[in-house]
Amino acid sequence: MRFATLTRQPDDPLLRIIGQHAADPRTNKIDLGVGVFRDEEGRTPVMTAVKAAEARLLTEQPSKSYLGPEGDIGFVRALATLVLGDAVAAERVVGLQTPGGTGALRLAAELLARSGVERIWIGSPSWANHAPLFRQAGVEPAMIPCFDLNTQSFDLDGFLTGLGEAGAGDAVLLHGCCHNPIGIDPDAAGWHAIASRVAERGLLPVVDLAYQGLGDGFDVDAQGARTILAAVPEALLAYSCDKNFGLYRERTGALFAVTPDRDSGATVFSNLLALARANWSMPPDHGAAIVRIILEDESLTAEWREELETMRQRLESLRAALAAGGRIGTIDLAAVAHGKGMFATLPLSPTQVEWLRDRHAIYMAGSGRINIAGFNMAAVQTFHEALRDMVA
Ligand code: PLP
Repeated sequence: MRFATLTRQPDDPLLRIIGQHAADPRTNKIDLGVGVFRDEEGRTPVMTAVKAAEARLLTEQPSKSYLGPEGDIGFVRALATLVLGDAVAAERVVGLQTPGGTGALRLAAELLARSGVERIWIGSPSWANHAPLFRQAGVEPAMIPCFDLNTQSFDLDGFLTGLGEAGAGDAVLLHGCCHNPIGIDPDAAGWHAIASRVAERGLLPVVDLAYQGLGDGFDVDAQGARTILAAVPEALLAYSCDKNFGLYRERTGALFAVTPDRDSGATVFSNLLALARANWSMPPDHGAAIVRIILEDESLTAEWREELETMRQRLESLRAALAAGGRIGTIDLAAVAHGKGMFATLPLSPTQVEWLRDRHAIYMAGSGRINIAGFNMAAVQTFHEALRDMVA
């Protein structure tokens, strides 16, 4: 009876919140929990460029035959150009398609473990899946607390000091933009300081870029990643298309490895193929084919970029509206304006989070993380009033 040795695992807290929200009969309920983009009506629509690419795929796809563990190479190439710009010489980069950004991170973690990396440094708090994902692959996470929720700021000095304890050959995880769950990224000078520290300590950076285009704009959002990749001989970049193409359930992502030269790139690539083969054999095709069709067609690319920019601006104006609430009790909402992307984490206790849910039907993660896209303009006002009620 081998299964008798297993212990019951707790439910994912965010999935529990989704269930509670769905079961709540109150019509004024607000869902700030699940991390998907929503429009003013609360929908997560399929982007029009995606629909157009799907229509084309339906009529033009000649076969559903297998591709290979590397996935759709046209997709990987188009994405590499878009993401990396000219930060790194093309012959130093290899890449393959993965099932979402999570698949890319998983492959990155396994490649690190295979390369003898034992530890990865992660600014804390981070995306809830980071630490378990690396640990499960045999790379121990070492957390560096580096955010102040009261001032909504990133403690660059604290992070750099933390990295001072890292040993050569350790890895470090960096959120490329739109930090999840905090929403605060280093500025350009901060990225350069991190790049110098990473290079001088001989660390291997793993950049997680899951929200490109939802922060300051498409190219600006890649600058941090490009600064890091340009500064080191070896690096990994895990990319997700699931938010910026609205593809979520299609599980669309890629992993890029920067290597010292073409020869080592070929070795790394062969290891990535072997790891992919042993994990999922080949990634699902549909989402990557859609992205390739969009990126290979100028007018579809323009349409997608425009739609993405509308999404970005919606997040920006909701964030500004939220920040306009100013100081409510000890919570300085104005500081939320420092952030970007879909998320912010408010300095709320679990009891306060629960109170907001029970009293005002406002749902968010127990950590106080909110999905800004879960608001509409009316809901922002309701949220301000609920906070005022809470501190009254
Ligand atoms: N990295 C971060 C920081 C994320 O927030 C997410 C998703 O929420 C991912 C990676 C994974 O993305 P995907 O849904 O493509 O697996």
